[in-house]
Amino acid sequence: MTTTPTTHQNYLNGRWQDAKSGRTFERENPADGEIIGRFPDSGPDDVAVAAKAAADAFERWRFTPAPKRAEILFRAAEMLLARKEELARDVTVEMGKVLAEARGDVQEAIDMTYYVAGEGRRQAGQTIPSELPNKLCMTFRQPHGVIAAITPWNFPSAIPCWKLMPALITGNTAVFKPSPYSPLSAANLVRILEEAGLPPGVVNLVFGGDEAGAALVEDPRVAMVSFTGSLEVGREIAAYCGGHGKRVHLELGGKNAIIVLDDADLDLAIDGAVWSAFGTSGQRCTAASRMIVQDRVRDEFTDRLVTRASALRLGNGLDAGTDVGPVVNTESLDKITRYMDIGRDEGASIAAGGSRASGNGLDRGYFFQPTVFTDVQPGMRIAQEEIFGPVTDVITCSDLDHGVAIANDVPYGLVASIFTRDISKAMRAMERISTGIVYINAGTIGAEVQLPFGGTRGTGNGHREAGQAALDSYSEWKSVYIDYSGRLQKAQIDP
Ligand code: NAD
Repeated sequence: MTTTPTTHQNYLNGRWQDAKSGRTFERENPADGEIIGRFPDSGPDDVAVAAKAAADAFERWRFTPAPKRAEILFRAAEMLLARKEELARDVTVEMGKVLAEARGDVQEAIDMTYYVAGEGRRQAGQTIPSELPNKLCMTFRQPHGVIAAITPWNFPSAIPCWKLMPALITGNTAVFKPSPYSPLSAANLVRILEEAGLPPGVVNLVFGGDEAGAALVEDPRVAMVSFTGSLEVGREIAAYCGGHGKRVHLELGGKNAIIVLDDADLDLAIDGAVWSAFGTSGQRCTAASRMIVQDRVRDEFTDRLVTRASALRLGNGLDAGTDVGPVVNTESLDKITRYMDIGRDEGASIAAGGSRASGNGLDRGYFFQPTVFTDVQPGMRIAQEEIFGPVTDVITCSDLDHGVAIANDVPYGLVASIFTRDISKAMRAMERISTGIVYINAGTIGAEVQLPFGGTRGTGNGHREAGQAALDSYSEWKSVYIDYSGRLQKAQIDP
């Protein structure tokens, strides 16, 4: 299918415009290499215009009553819902995930937008008893100011909504810098926000890559950076923000595990493993790249996983028969390929997949065979580092505690799951697994927007997206004391 490339512009202070330099970049469909669109390759000048617009709009927006802000978000949610199918197709075309998953990505954006819009009439603070008479103590939320929302390409519809919607409902304005590998969905979302009635300057969209991202982080008008992406870039951003007193919210990588005990429902565990390892070609931050399997069921589990992985059909995500789409770009393909050598050199074996997929037109895109490593030791690089492709390891554990210890012993802490029929073991695992998200008898993917989302250790810095926790990320508490005693009361100093 031939796509006609579309041309796009930045959205700055309510106006669609080219990069000041006139430079553009092209995005291709990772399934077939066809150019799908041209986008401004923004530089610091464009970022400065965006940050100024957001800063100028802040006072007006923060004092717009929250229920009124919410009305705009409700309208945006309705539009996302009405356009779900076309939005999902654009997700597939620009980053490759199969259409059913792309619909899920858009649905998550819809869910988050409705959920957060409901906060327009909540965002409750507290009233707390005072230690003094005739004094009222209470708290309420206040926005940070200008938020820099810097996003990856793997959930191009959902992740921007996870950031922008809670930022907006709590009264912040924003500059949104999407990944250059998923610019189309970003343009679609901002167009919807514009049509929903968002005033100029409240959300500004700047396309571009690292240069635009770095300029945004460093812009003095940006009060908080909300970043989802790789550990390496996240750490750079955190170092800058730490040195400059900026708030920073990080959602980084994962090396997520599924523990399968010998009493597990193996049919269910295999379904969970296949979906979690190879869904979105393993390019989810929550993908399961380690299967930690108790010794007595390891061989059966491995054989079945290998059979299922080898049977997955690769292809264009728009084709109904496709199970697994391409990976996002050639760099990703190269990185995954390098890990095949790393794994072999470490002594692991490849029981399924192991190389770039070819034939049936797959050579035109970036396809990698669903891959299963066996003979994996927990300390190997393939079991410690995020590969971010359709690759998973099988690691043997002797019992529950051993499995949990292996699961926890990685630099990341996003999500883990356990399959067992023993409620006591499930409870013990739930308490001892040290990730931000735990699933019992389910795979590692399938988060719901009303619960906090985020990870421990290298996955984050203590903030959470989604749920009520998102409000805490995008606002700060203000404590207010109202003294109506008519005299100067001094708290701890008064008798
Ligand atoms: P990436 O770090 O390469 O890029 C993320 C964003 O940062 C992009 O918009 C990019 O242009 C921008 N950027 C790059 N260098 C920058 C710099 N120096 N300053 C400012 N911005 C810069 O990540 P990616 O390849 O887009 O995404 C994949 C990664 O995201 C994986 O590690 C994955 O686990 C992670 N991820 C995490 C979560 C989560 O919630 N924990 C969710 C999705 C993806």
